[in-house]
Amino acid sequence: MIRERVADNVYVFTSELYAQVNAGLIVGPDFSVVIDTLAYPEETQEIREFVEDRLGSPVRYVVNTHHHADHTLGNWWFKGAVVVGHREARAMMDTVGRESLERARQTSRELRDVQLVLPDVVIDQGEMSLRVGKRTLQLVPLPGHSPDGLGVLVLEDRVLFSGDAMMPLPHVVSGDLEAMTASLKRIPRLKLENVVQGHGEVILRGEIQNAVRSNLNYVACVRREVTRASHRKDPGAYLASVSIEECGKSRILLGGLAEDLHRRNLLGMYGTLYGKA
Ligand SMILES: [Zn+2]
Repeated sequence: MIRERVADNVYVFTSELYAQVNAGLIVGPDFSVVIDTLAYPEETQEIREFVEDRLGSPVRYVVNTHHHADHTLGNWWFKGAVVVGHREARAMMDTVGRESLERARQTSRELRDVQLVLPDVVIDQGEMSLRVGKRTLQLVPLPGHSPDGLGVLVLEDRVLFSGDAMMPLPHVVSGDLEAMTASLKRIPRLKLENVVQGHGEVILRGEIQNAVRSNLNYVACVRREVTRASHRKDPGAYLASVSIEECGKSRILLGGLAEDLHRRNLLGMYGTLYGKA
């Protein structure tokens, strides 16, 4: 796990074990807030040791940016903290999340003892704020990767924890390209110093515009190619021929996971619009 400080008392932890997942930490005078957890217990435990043992600050809240296991399984390690998430996140963790943890337990020793911890406090459409000392954490809906996407904006520092609304390669699980596009367009308007993506490197102020534009171009390319595929005799074969580079991204992103996500984006989007390819 790599630890990085992005503002006073604002930290980012990046997984070295799975897909460069990011978790965040805001340390206040009386307690701390954790934003997402890391997939493997040992890395989440390292975060807990850092904040509770080294800094001596109890974690009072854990905010889940969305329901996916690589961001939420570590809720379990912050006993006594209140977990905050979207209403949909709670519902999905309780169903698909529970099933996938059950499956993961069969193959992974480390996950054997992990229990699912659902959000205690849920938000719907509106926005919600948390105070940490003199800081304000604003929870901002950012759907698109999944319908339950939430960003966390550290208002005073202009740092956004975007969850998977922003990744080195967009991943549109729910197939909702419109929501993804709207969420991406919202990011540069927030006048940010840093974007902490759900996965990968922290984006600095001067890079945000380009990073968002590159993701918007990619999403538009997927949409265009899916439409083209729908006019072909064999849409599946056409989609298989669309390389990630044609859509302006590199296959080496996310430790090589990018190619797989690209395939899933094409097939997922095609499935949503036209049925199975
Ligand atoms: Zn993720």
